[in-house]
Amino acid sequence: MSNQLEIKNLHANVEGQEILKGVNLVVPKGEVHALMGPNGSGKSTLSKVIAGDPAYEVTQGEVLVDGENVLDMEADERAREGLYLAFQYPVEVPGVSIANFLRLAINARRDEDDEIPVMDFYNKIMSAVNTLNWDESIIERHLHEGFSGGEKKRSEILQLLVLEPKYAMLDETDSGLDVDALKVVSQGVNAARGPEFGALVITHYQRLLNYIVPDKVHVMFEGRIVQSGPKELAMELDQKGYDFIKEAV
Ligand code: ADP
Ligand code: MG
Repeated sequence: MSNQLEIKNLHANVEGQEILKGVNLVVPKGEVHALMGPNGSGKSTLSKVIAGDPAYEVTQGEVLVDGENVLDMEADERAREGLYLAFQYPVEVPGVSIANFLRLAINARRDEDDEIPVMDFYNKIMSAVNTLNWDESIIERHLHEGFSGGEKKRSEILQLLVLEPKYAMLDETDSGLDVDALKVVSQGVNAARGPEFGALVITHYQRLLNYIVPDKVHVMFEGRIVQSGPKELAMELDQKGYDFIKEAV
């Protein structure tokens, strides 16, 4: 069994228009990769297709989680397989506290007669709250209700730390964050790093990658990965802009 998230020749449409035009990408477990590229190149689409958003139609290709093709699975099934997507625009779920939401989410991934013991859950969520330098009362707040943009992003990392997915995709987790919030969010992602965890960090700017140092950087342009390289590639993109990618393609 291969220990990696593998995207093979992935093509996907939305509303009849092809957005992903043959994406090939491998994120081995234990590594954090960055996905960069100009706006509209298909980065968010890729993350949503991997997570199983039904708005997107896959016409070709495979998404393999540790060797298993997940494309026939519903989004919640993929989540149980260990895929996690932090959205570019997190939704609000009024009436459900963060603590209850996470307890339900954890138990949905376990057998029916094997709910997580209350103390185990409490310790897990508190440890994540502390990693994010957050006040403990946050877990009683309703999910994202009245949260600022930065708080929503922090909450998505809290979920990541508690749910412990095998592979996470973080879509523009840095957008709208000031430097302090950026550091805290990065601290959370770095705490999740380890041999059993792989991540695809989607970002338009190099700034986030000063804090979450990627093992590899990929550049997406017009629905394909057009360049991959070491972390220095992100700095090069920052200096030269994306025009040199457009010229090279
Ligand atoms: P990125 O995240 O790289 O900025 P997106 O994946 O958001 O790019 O968008 C890629 C292209 O797909 C854009 O042209 C966008 O307008 C289009 N697109 C994405 N999602 C939808 C949707 N749900 N309906 C219509 N067009 C979409
Ligand atoms: Mg996007």
